[in-house]
Amino acid sequence: MQIEFKKVPSLEKEFSIKLNSVEFSGTFCKISQNLVKLKSKIVGKLLVDCCKCGEEHYIEVDEIQDFILSDGEFSSSNEREGEIVIEIENHVVDFDEILSSELESISSDYHICPDCQKNGNLVDIEY
Ligand SMILES: [Zn+2]
Repeated sequence: MQIEFKKVPSLEKEFSIKLNSVEFSGTFCKISQNLVKLKSKIVGKLLVDCCKCGEEHYIEVDEIQDFILSDGEFSSSNEREGEIVIEIENHVVDFDEILSSELESISSDYHICPDCQKNGNLVDIEY
């Protein structure tokens, strides 16, 4: 789903997209001429790699995340805590891209599969 930056309404509008088994939904609206605020919820199952054995496993994702989308360069004086700032270069808000980069950053976190969690506990006891 894509929307042109200049067509983003100033009243909150709902959106909802799905990628694999993850749902990305919430509201978005324009807060200034070149800023859009996106309040979102990311819920679903995400396939990640275990950082110990490399085995793929699913994790439950249930996150509330606010984004600020900036049409062009973002001035950091506008930055607020808890918001992820995304600079948009082609004047188009691309929800699929926002979701997939957010999922990428979640999956690049440190994940341990249930098997390694069990084994890890045993190793810790031995030490
Ligand atoms: Zn593992």
